[in-house]
Amino acid sequence: MYHSIKLIEKSEVMKSLHVAPNAFKRQMLILKKLGFRGCSVMDAGNALRSGSTEKLVALTFDDGYVNFYNTALPILDAHNFSATVFPVAGLVGKSNVWDTEKNNGISANPLMSWKQLHGCVDQGIEIGCHSMSHRSLIDPKTDLESEVVNAKKKLANNLKINVETFCYPYGHYNNNIMSAVSAAGFLSAVTMTRARATDNDDLLQLPRIPITWHTLPHLFLVKLLTAYEDNRRNK
Ligand SMILES: [Zn+2]
Repeated sequence: MYHSIKLIEKSEVMKSLHVAPNAFKRQMLILKKLGFRGCSVMDAGNALRSGSTEKLVALTFDDGYVNFYNTALPILDAHNFSATVFPVAGLVGKSNVWDTEKNNGISANPLMSWKQLHGCVDQGIEIGCHSMSHRSLIDPKTDLESEVVNAKKKLANNLKINVETFCYPYGHYNNNIMSAVSAAGFLSAVTMTRARATDNDDLLQLPRIPITWHTLPHLFLVKLLTAYEDNRRNK
C-alpha cells in the first residue's frame, strides 16, 4: 500500500503517506530481482481464484496523486509492472481536501486529472474506486449510494472502463458497507488490515502491507518475505 511518491520537507507531518522516489525505485528493483511481478489487485484476485503459483505483488496507490503519474508510473513501466490506483471520484483534478480541511498540518497534494487517469488506463494500470468524497463510510451521515454506486459510475463513465476494485477510505468498513460494495458490482476491496493476502482471504476485505517513508530496504524485504506483516493482521 502506497499513497504518494515524492520527496518531502523535514517539517512534513504524516511522513508515512509518502515514499521518496529513489526508495520506491529501489523497492521495485528488489521485487524484480527476487522474481516478483508487480500487478493490479484485479490480476492478484484472478490469481488467488485460480490457484496460480506465480510470484505476484499487487501494488496499490490510494487517493490518485499526480505524483503517481509523474513519478511512479515511469518506474512501473520500466519494470513492466502494473498496479491499481484508487482515485476519489468526486475530487479528480483537485487535491486532498479531506486532509487540508481539517487543518491538521497535512499539506495539499494535487490529485490526477481525468486526462492523467486516461493515461494510466492506456499504460495498463487498473483504476479502482476510493469513494466519491473520501468520507469515512462508517459515519452514519455518509450517503453510501453516492460514495459507492455513484462514485463507481462516475469513474466508469468518464474513463470508459469497468471499475471492479474498491478501497475503503481510512480502511473503515463493516458488513453493511461490504454488502453495498458487493451489490454495486465490485469484485474485490482492499482494507488497511496488515498481512500478505492468501487464498483464504475474503476478496472484499483484502489485507495490505503499508510501505512508508520509514520503510528501509531491509524492512521492505522482511515485510515481503517473512510473516512480519501476517503477525500484525489483527493488531
Ligand atoms: Zn485515502
